[in-house]
Amino acid sequence: MLPQEIIRTKRDGGRLSDAQINAFVAGLVDGGWSEGQVAALAMAIVLRGMDTAETVALTCSMADSGERLQWADAGLAGPVLDKHSTGGVGDKISLMLAPLLAACGAVVPMISGRGLGHTGGTLDKLEALPGYGCDPDRPRLLATLRTAGCAIVGASAALAPADRRLYAIRDVTATVESLPLITASILSKKLAAGLQALVLDVKCGSGAFMATPQQAQALAASLVGVARGAGLPARALVTDMNQVLGWTAGNALEVQEAVDFLTGAAREPRLLALTLALAAHALQLGGLAATLEQGHAQALRALESGAAAERFARMVAALGGPADVLRHPQLPRAPLRFAVPAPRSGVVGAIDVRALGLAVVALGGGRARPGAAIDPRVGLERVVAPGAVLRAGEPLAWVHAADQDTAAAASAAVQRALVLGDAALPAAPLVAEVVGN
Ligand code: URA
Repeated sequence: MLPQEIIRTKRDGGRLSDAQINAFVAGLVDGGWSEGQVAALAMAIVLRGMDTAETVALTCSMADSGERLQWADAGLAGPVLDKHSTGGVGDKISLMLAPLLAACGAVVPMISGRGLGHTGGTLDKLEALPGYGCDPDRPRLLATLRTAGCAIVGASAALAPADRRLYAIRDVTATVESLPLITASILSKKLAAGLQALVLDVKCGSGAFMATPQQAQALAASLVGVARGAGLPARALVTDMNQVLGWTAGNALEVQEAVDFLTGAAREPRLLALTLALAAHALQLGGLAATLEQGHAQALRALESGAAAERFARMVAALGGPADVLRHPQLPRAPLRFAVPAPRSGVVGAIDVRALGLAVVALGGGRARPGAAIDPRVGLERVVAPGAVLRAGEPLAWVHAADQDTAAAASAAVQRALVLGDAALPAAPLVAEVVGN
């Protein structure tokens, strides 16, 4: 089956057969397709699209391109569940949700990623904990799941290798923005992780990759439809990303917020509401709760009793992090910490959350180049929310920085991103829609 004939079919708006899709995926893995050919097909898919059956076939073929994790014989009790977020600013929910679900009886092998663009990455956050290892070998991964019920780790090279190559080529050929390609990329890794149910948090707003409700709904529908077509029960919540989630954005700061959340020292209300909503859906979808209300109550109990915190502590210790993370997280702190003053009095209006994420990246909390080192200490804390009423000089946010130059740039970026007006704008609902309920 010639690559150029497969490309021609899609270029001219045709459907790809399962055999053509399998040939493409095989060529991705064994190098039989050149970069140019992969990019040409990716661009044809961007322009011509794929129907649900084609996207299911691509997803399953990519999931089968490497190892598929099996948990049945691992002696783990409970359904294997996971959550995936499409990415935002301050989104540290995975850090709390994985142990919370584990405390409710699930097994959560959460395969997570690094920061992408203006968004933070769960692995980068956890690596702020000294010693935390995101790449355990199989015995250590299993031991962590047995002792904690959850393990937040990176994808091994053996998991969906077709996606690894395709994603790298899409990244540099302007072919990332395609619903079928995004869907297949996300879900192939989840299928390969051997899940029994998946809850998706599709972020929508100025800090999300999907800026409009229409885009976010379309991605949510594609993810749920294709996951189900591939035999994976899934549900998606379209959630607000027009403000930083929680009080912090930045790696060590977010881990400290997660620890405070789990121990009950402090819980930002929106972060609490969304964590419990995602937990309730995951527990119901995974058969651990009969109704959403029961799932919600179960999750709240696991949080209030300290059971979720205990699971987090066990996971961190088992993966090489601090032995007593709840009391001594040993997180590094930035040398400079100061408030950014509001330039005038007024009400906080629309926030450019993407710009705040980029400010964290520019402070050193994210990467300008793939593989670059990041500074876990830096970030933003106590960023005001839309509708907050401020007097001139009151803090818009606190900046944690490594030096004066980056601190000054972050301060200016925060002042540009947060616009003060004379009247409050209507607030977006935290959960706009549930797809696949
Ligand atoms: N995340 C992924 O894993 N793949 C995409 O294509 C986009 C976001």
